[in-house]
Amino acid sequence: MIPIDAHTRLCAVIGRPVGHSLSPAIHNAAFAELGLNYAYLAFEIEDVAGFLMGLRSMPSFRGVSVTIPHKLAVIPHLDELEPMAGKVGSVNTITNDNGRLIGTTTDGPGALRAFARAGIDLAGKRVLFLGAGGAVRAVAFAMTDQSNLDCMTLLGRSRAKVEALAADLRSKTSCSINTGDIGSELDAEMADHDVIVNGTPIGMATAGAGESPVPAQLLRPDHVVFDMVYKPHETRLIRKANAAGCRVVYGIEMLIGQAALQFERWTGHGAPIDVMRAAVNRAST
Ligand code: NAP
Repeated sequence: MIPIDAHTRLCAVIGRPVGHSLSPAIHNAAFAELGLNYAYLAFEIEDVAGFLMGLRSMPSFRGVSVTIPHKLAVIPHLDELEPMAGKVGSVNTITNDNGRLIGTTTDGPGALRAFARAGIDLAGKRVLFLGAGGAVRAVAFAMTDQSNLDCMTLLGRSRAKVEALAADLRSKTSCSINTGDIGSELDAEMADHDVIVNGTPIGMATAGAGESPVPAQLLRPDHVVFDMVYKPHETRLIRKANAAGCRVVYGIEMLIGQAALQFERWTGHGAPIDVMRAAVNRAST
């Protein structure tokens, strides 16, 4: 452990609640591994404007991870918004450059890192998203920005939300975007796509535990399956995808990927991914 002293730099997650956050475990393990004099805490806050005003006056407070419900609320209080965060309309990372607050999002790029680490090239792929919430939004924008897909399709249960996200994507990218209803069009769309991304909470330990958004018979060995759900580590969807011979990307790899990008931005050092993964595993058991 690095002793906390007058030179320690601070990072933290803000949200409400934050008690469940794995970020302190991930980042503190990474700081310790590299012998960096940093500490990472968790703050449950309501007054976003007040917090950010205070942050400006503390240059040793280097970085903030932003989680629900503050990912939009922080934006008007920042000095700069990076292009990807502007497109997505959400910030999960603030960097404090001597009182200048810069907002970005590492959620989508973190997911792309997870694909890259699994050896999966998304270029030319047809990607099917299940759900149209915040996480899908972040990953869909990152993919349209950086991955040269053939096309993407958004399937959801609330038509208005699906169409709103699709319209936003179409207005900001040149990727071909299709939409549909998850209840009635899943079978046909599974047959027509290469990469399946679960962005619904189905399969989470706390909601729909033991369920899968995709019936096992729709999975083919040439599918790539990415389940954003990371608790449990091995969801029913991932289990069935492994059994069907699909290549899989675990939700935890997106969590680690987005944290690694934050760590690198704040410290200027490469993130010790294996140490971060081990910290998540310890904190989750
Ligand atoms: P969100 O904004 O609430 O979006 C959830 C989406 O799933 C919405 O489109 C919702 O539809 C849909 N949905 C919910 N229940 C459904 C059901 N039973 N059938 C069909 N669709 C359903 O949540 P989020 O922040 O995007 O998070 C989604 C999942 O990703 C969560 O499990 C979260 O833990 C996970 N996640 C993982 C990471 C990571 O790093 N691995 C990061 C962020 C999120 P409606 O709009 O109609 O309700």
